[in-house]
Amino acid sequence: MDSKNFKDHGREMVDYIADYQDNLLDRSVFPKVQPGYLKKLLPEDAPHKPENWEDIMKDVEDKILPGVTHWQHPRFHAYFPSGNSYPSILGDMLSSGLGCIGFSWASSPACTELENIVVNWLGKALNLPEGFLFGENSKGGGVIQSSASECVLVSFLAAREKKITQLMKEDPDADRYTLLSKLTAYCSSQAHSCAEKAAKIAFVRLRQLEPDSEVCLRGSVVQKAMEEDKANGLIPFYVEATLGTTSCCSFDNIAEIGPLCQENDVWLHVDGAYAGSSFICPELRGPFEGIHYASSFNLNTNKFLLTNFDCSVMWVQDQFSLTQSMNVDPIYLQHSYSEAVDYRHWGINLSRRFRSLKLWFVLRSYGITGLQQYVREHCRLAKLFEEHVKQDTRFELTSKAALGLVTFRLNGSDELNENLLTSINDSGRLHMIKSKMNNQLIIRFCICAENASDDDVDYAWETIQEFSHIVLGTVPETKDAQDTIQEEETLEEEEEVNNFPDDVLTPLITLIRRASMEQMLLGRQNQHGLNTTVAPESIKEVPEDQEEDKEEIVDVFDDVISPLITLMRRASQDQLLMMQQKKRQSLRRRRGSRLSSGSVSVPVC
Ligand code: PLP
Repeated sequence: MDSKNFKDHGREMVDYIADYQDNLLDRSVFPKVQPGYLKKLLPEDAPHKPENWEDIMKDVEDKILPGVTHWQHPRFHAYFPSGNSYPSILGDMLSSGLGCIGFSWASSPACTELENIVVNWLGKALNLPEGFLFGENSKGGGVIQSSASECVLVSFLAAREKKITQLMKEDPDADRYTLLSKLTAYCSSQAHSCAEKAAKIAFVRLRQLEPDSEVCLRGSVVQKAMEEDKANGLIPFYVEATLGTTSCCSFDNIAEIGPLCQENDVWLHVDGAYAGSSFICPELRGPFEGIHYASSFNLNTNKFLLTNFDCSVMWVQDQFSLTQSMNVDPIYLQHSYSEAVDYRHWGINLSRRFRSLKLWFVLRSYGITGLQQYVREHCRLAKLFEEHVKQDTRFELTSKAALGLVTFRLNGSDELNENLLTSINDSGRLHMIKSKMNNQLIIRFCICAENASDDDVDYAWETIQEFSHIVLGTVPETKDAQDTIQEEETLEEEEEVNNFPDDVLTPLITLIRRASMEQMLLGRQNQHGLNTTVAPESIKEVPEDQEEDKEEIVDVFDDVISPLITLMRRASQDQLLMMQQKKRQSLRRRRGSRLSSGSVSVPVC
């Protein structure tokens, strides 16, 4: 591809992305494909010869898009938002275009320096204590990692190294690996599974402690655990507290946990993957109290700050503690600018993309006020959804709206809730996921789309209500809801009906086609003075001079018989629809009488 083609296709690609975003509502939020669908559509091997752009793009639309879950879709309410915005897409495009790798200051000075600047900008916007920022009076600073999991792992490794180094200083004869076997970390049982994974990789013991009824890990619980462990000869070295848990966006109490960590010389990492970004709004900073006790803190701008994956920002109060755990210094990476930050010592990989560009584009394009407005709007919409849940007594709110997340369940068994969620997701009308709280299955509803609106929330709630009627086997109270269910059912039935004529009519049509051809051919043969008692099988072997006749007959057949077949098809569809409607009416009558006799919600699944 030369630069002219690049410009042309680049423009087309930008158009394609913008049209995709504008027309998301035309697509089903969740793909209706089965595992292995793409293998059937794409060749086994890469093409030997170059293919043209149009063919590639056609496959994108025809083969790839049908298997995509549309995370930016207004009906996407699963997980957390996957931050995205036009400025961030363009910033990322520029990063790809420049294609530089900024592992050290010398490898591309602007990569390092812009990252230093934007992490400070963002840190200040969050009101992070100065100790976390790059500055003359600070030992701290920030770095962009790929994911929250990576931030948590890196903090585990840094804490492990720090504790072992410190213990070895106190007792130089101590065995490093014996010490390692005693190190113990703590987190809430509601912490993201990346904490468990990090402990696995770091090969250290992790205790998952029970949060209180508000799903908040309290200082007293951590204290008790640490005391028990110390009494058993173990060495507490790390606590991971979460601000904004994945299941229900609850907040551990870092104001209580922080002082304990300080007293015990334990690394406190605060994972604010989702909720961390909300602290740009002063009124949402309550749970941030105590952040000055933390050794490290991370948030994903690629969740709640309109910046596309990957862009997890991690701050530490002591750069040295982090870099000493990662520092290796081969000669080919050394340079003479020792005063500069070398991000290769701040993480696991050496090579790194110019990720600060997209965050810089976002911060500049929206400004802090624009981002605050975005966060506040998601909070408002979550409250709106919460109100809907509260007003329907068949549902239970399992946690209050927290930022853009609400969790709820239908009163009843886990199986019932699983059925509700599965049927909604399968319909492609909404996408949500489940989680567990207090040993019960809950459904998470998260506001995700950048420009989510009241209508989107109302639509989601109506859909949930409709499907709840289906799984409960109840009749909706309002006429509107009844109509929507009916529409839904009719659509399903029509689909069934559309398949039906093909199953039943196709063999019939083949018979008719054959019989009428035989009949017409016989007529022709009579006209030609041939024997009228020709066996139908012999029609296949029409003498050569009659081939033309046969073709003519086939044409006539198509003119005459085809409209007839269409009529038959339509008649049989009508017939079937009528039968289905009768069936439905009688089902409704039966359900109605069940309702009036007092049993309101009979689970049918
Ligand atoms: N921490 C929390 C609280 C999360 O909610 C998540 C993901 O949703 C993670 C960590 C893991 O994030 P990542 O995918 O960036 O590793």
